[in-house]
Amino acid sequence: MIVALDGPAASGKGTLGRRLAAHFGLRYLDTGLLYRATGLAVLRAGGDPSDPEAATTAARALTPDQLHDPALRHDEAAQAGSMVAVIPAVRTALLAFQRDIAHQPPGAVLDGRDIGTVVCPDADAKIFVTAAMEVRAERRFKELRARGLDAIYPAVLQDLVQRDGRDSKRAVAPLRRSADALLLDTSELDADQVFAAALAFIADKTGGS
Ligand code: C5P
Repeated sequence: MIVALDGPAASGKGTLGRRLAAHFGLRYLDTGLLYRATGLAVLRAGGDPSDPEAATTAARALTPDQLHDPALRHDEAAQAGSMVAVIPAVRTALLAFQRDIAHQPPGAVLDGRDIGTVVCPDADAKIFVTAAMEVRAERRFKELRARGLDAIYPAVLQDLVQRDGRDSKRAVAPLRRSADALLLDTSELDADQVFAAALAFIADKTGGS
């Protein structure tokens, strides 16, 4: 079984994805980590994440252990990730890794921006998770603070606005809802309500529980 979760940053995809994966006994892949790790590798090598050659080299050299770096959680990595993500050759280089995880038994929950449209158009269930910008910024701000990071609300809001713009407007695999995806607005829902709505949709799509 493959579940595709797409949507803008801090919409609640990660929380929902991990919970669904645990519930169904599936793997879970946060695909944003691949882009963040690529962007961070370029920065650490002293390069510019918007340079196609540097970014593509970093994407091709990416190894799974790079995905566990705590520095990937910082906004600097998120920004660099969204810059490398506009480069078509970077996206191509990261595709096989994502599809391999998705197609290994018993299946997986993948979250990102283009899972339902590009990475796994054949997913059994697709959900587009979204929330109002202010709600997302508030959530991300609290999450960063809870991790002991020195977050400033206006900077968190600006990061989201910039990344949303870049992710939605890029020519290749832009952030958009697949026509067959459930639109799940989590602005007014708590984590349990989001989980319940997702479960009901998946049961309906797969004919299971
Ligand atoms: O999901 P996360 O915020 O970690 O993603 C970081 C950046 O990686 C996003 O802003 C987006 O530009 C990019 N990304 C993408 N496609 C995905 C996942 C993430 O372009 N499937």
